[in-house]
Amino acid sequence: MIEISFVSAFKDNYIWLLSDGQRAFVVDPGDAAPVIARLDALGLSLAGILITHHHADHQGGIAALLQRWQPVVFAPASESITGCTHPLAGGECIDVLGQSIDVLAVPGHTLGHLAYSLPGALFCGDTLFGAGCGRLFEGTPAQMADSLERLAALPDDTLIYCAHEYTEANLRFAQALEPGSPVLAARCARVADLRSAGLPSVPSTLAEEKATNPFLRCDDPALIAVAQANAAVNAEKVSVFTTLRGMRNNFQ
Ligand SMILES: [Zn+2]
Repeated sequence: MIEISFVSAFKDNYIWLLSDGQRAFVVDPGDAAPVIARLDALGLSLAGILITHHHADHQGGIAALLQRWQPVVFAPASESITGCTHPLAGGECIDVLGQSIDVLAVPGHTLGHLAYSLPGALFCGDTLFGAGCGRLFEGTPAQMADSLERLAALPDDTLIYCAHEYTEANLRFAQALEPGSPVLAARCARVADLRSAGLPSVPSTLAEEKATNPFLRCDDPALIAVAQANAAVNAEKVSVFTTLRGMRNNFQ
């Protein structure tokens, strides 16, 4: 049985920690020090690392972790990742602490971006966030829209373990798009309660994201109307997504 917890890093990163009670995997260790401190405190040894993409705040801690342990490092084959032992392209099934994990290619934020899926849980890096999605640094809007659509096809009760605490800012944008939405108001209230208690707003469930995340709702008539009032060339999902993502980039 795998237990999932998190290690906070930098300003708003979550490094997810998977443990079977003796060994651990971490997802996107951007910083080694807090990971080493937590593993030592729990008496765990690091068996492996899962990397979603190459950005420094997701892989910057690998070198120091490799000095302490000899973990396997699963990472995108097409990106430059420190110490990668198992290059992945998506479509593989890997073993993590005795659990099968599906590797999904989700290009958009970066071109080699991977997500790791097991029953009930998704580690999606900077692709899908609480009420938002990652910026398009390398991929096209069409690639990101397609990646998000494939994540949205997972079971509704899947917990979404994203890599950043961005939910409140994302909800402000979602509410600007749909000011009267009671579903959004309810999620805002839940998230505000969690954050003011010093708790993370993640993981959310996929069902919650499908109900409130504008980037998973590009076929919703209300959002199509907003997008078409803001330069979307047509009502197709990709066009709506492109427009909403552009509006998010400029949203303060
Ligand atoms: Zn990133």
